[in-house]
Amino acid sequence: MKKRRIKKSVIKKGIIGLIILLALILLLIIKTVRYHNTNEYKLKQIGYNKEEIQTIKPISEENMTYILNNEYNEKIDDIIKQKYYIDKNLERYINYQKQTNNENIEQVVAIVNVNKDKEEYKETKKADLSKKELVLVNKYNYLDKDYKPENIINISNWYAYDGNETSKEILDKYIEMHEAAKQDGINLIISSAYRDYDNQQETYEYYKRENGEEYARKYASLPGYSEHQTGLAFDILTLGVLTDEFDKTKEYEWLINNSYKYGFILRYPKGKENITGYDYESWHYRYVGIEPAKTIHDENITFDEYYAYYIEK
Ligand SMILES: [Zn+2]
Repeated sequence: MKKRRIKKSVIKKGIIGLIILLALILLLIIKTVRYHNTNEYKLKQIGYNKEEIQTIKPISEENMTYILNNEYNEKIDDIIKQKYYIDKNLERYINYQKQTNNENIEQVVAIVNVNKDKEEYKETKKADLSKKELVLVNKYNYLDKDYKPENIINISNWYAYDGNETSKEILDKYIEMHEAAKQDGINLIISSAYRDYDNQQETYEYYKRENGEEYARKYASLPGYSEHQTGLAFDILTLGVLTDEFDKTKEYEWLINNSYKYGFILRYPKGKENITGYDYESWHYRYVGIEPAKTIHDENITFDEYYAYYIEK
């Protein structure tokens, strides 16, 4: 009797032990399966290292799917770490980088952010007027033929060449800057301000007639695509100096160093032609408001880049 009882308890213990062992094995299998299903594991299998995985992890689900369905890309880490990285553009950054073989990732991000991976005047949309003085008008964002800013008034000869107009609110902002410049012995004059659609059409046709279409596209905007139609843009010179020589004047120097304090920015800077889509224009200023102008100035970015990252994103 005693022997049998001992045997029974040994069998009982054995069974319990086996169950525990099976449970542990099952747990291990579940854990392994679960791990194999993590993005971390999948990324590792594609070839991403620990550091790259840490960079990739916080991106959107959509982008993660895209990365998991594609080959290892050594540029991704650098792309995501860029200051002006915008998550929804990831696939475009990767495609544009591959197409152009551009090794300058900072530039790749900037170019895609401002739509320069797309053809000018082709994939366009209506400018978002609800952004008010931050409205973006460029070769991808246009104004309707009949758009006209409110309160358009004549600018007195004290501030501008004959026949220039702009909206009263913006003129007041300009006058503030103009008077401050005057205090510093700087004489500014507006050579062009608000231009309506028809006026821009005439300008464009004139450039085209005189110098051909390629030139016109480079130096004038197609009607509807000119910032001058917003009433927020001014071509600023000093008396007796033409646009070509303006950047050799002390007036130019003053504007570069001070205009942002009054909410104005140089809209088409030198060296940023591939971002703005325009040749350098030392005379074309745009009102954006004091805070945005300061950011644009301090971070040395264009309004197009500012808009993509700080407004639209
Ligand atoms: Zn202009």
